[in-house]
Amino acid sequence: MTNTTTNVDIFLSKPYDIIIVGGGTAGLALAARLSETTLRIGVLEAGLDKVSSDPTLYSGGGWPLTARDPKYHWGFSSTPQSNLIDQTLGKPGKVLNLPRGKLLSGSSAVNAMVWIRASKAEYDALESVFGNKGWDFDSLLPYFRKTQSHTAQPSELFPESKVIPGVHGTEGPVNTSQNWWHSSLIDPFVKTMISQSFEINSNPDNGNPLGMINVTRGVHPKTSRRQDATETYLKTTEGRDNITVLLGAQARQIIFSQGNGELFATGVEFQVGNTKHVVNAAKEVILSAGE
Ligand SMILES: Cc1cc2nc3c(=O)[nH]c(=O)nc-3n(C[C@H](O)[C@H](O)[C@H](O)COP(=O)(O)OP(=O)(O)OC[C@H]3O[C@@H](n4cnc5c(N)ncnc54)[C@H](O)[C@@H]3O)c2cc1C
Repeated sequence: MTNTTTNVDIFLSKPYDIIIVGGGTAGLALAARLSETTLRIGVLEAGLDKVSSDPTLYSGGGWPLTARDPKYHWGFSSTPQSNLIDQTLGKPGKVLNLPRGKLLSGSSAVNAMVWIRASKAEYDALESVFGNKGWDFDSLLPYFRKTQSHTAQPSELFPESKVIPGVHGTEGPVNTSQNWWHSSLIDPFVKTMISQSFEINSNPDNGNPLGMINVTRGVHPKTSRRQDATETYLKTTEGRDNITVLLGAQARQIIFSQGNGELFATGVEFQVGNTKHVVNAAKEVILSAGE
């Protein structure tokens, strides 16, 4: 994939203004947007570029397999859960798998591609309850739209689905779409729900996701290809020489310097194989290494 390398010497031969730790969903979006400027961007990603070589990662159907396969993720698990029964032991203490992508694109390469917005009330609470100015629904909506190129796919059950100006984006890097094929189970299910007073909601992206919805998904409407961070944001950096992503490089620690009584992040120590290296950032270090 464009602008990526596994060669640490090539990576270190360039100067960087910004170093981003994590070439995942958010890290590659940040890197791509920042590289629209003259800033020089370096990204450290612990995993490799499996997306370019493994078709299981392209398609929607692959994610239940890849999310379970340790070659794609970090292998995190929960502590024993006292309120969950472990079927093998026949007693409480079930340990849950918590997959998080360890590859270029991060978890966007192994996730379920559901592209739903929360309710307006929830975003508004980020501002009104938690005091995060600018995180309310109306302030975020332009950014939701900026990231997306939406294609509506009306179906028999959801004939009203359409691209709504002001709600959906049409020029962003992530191609979103809807399911247009439904199994024979869906029809009776939806009709039963309607008989129980649940209504069809054809516009769930407008801040009210309640009701029976045909969920928006991060799947290209024509190629059916997963819209992971490589396929979307990293692709937009093709031809730029101010962004380099080093693969197989695990950040170990942030390096700080002191000035005027304050600490500044000036670089990152990272490991490739058994060897440690340091990369400097003239302006900023951004941690985007997952949840
Ligand atoms: C199985 C599964 C299904 C999901 N389904 C959905 C869904 O349908 N819809 C939805 O909206 N969300 C879904 N999610 C959640 C969504 O994918 C994540 O919220 C999102 O991808 C997180 O983005 P991120 O950039 O924070 O982290 P990630 O995309 O995980 O990226 C973090 C990156 O940092 C790298 N990294 C970590 N530590 C280091 C280090 N020390 N040095 C260098 N690199 C490092 C990782 O390898 C990874 O590539 C799902 C997640 C999973 C795992």
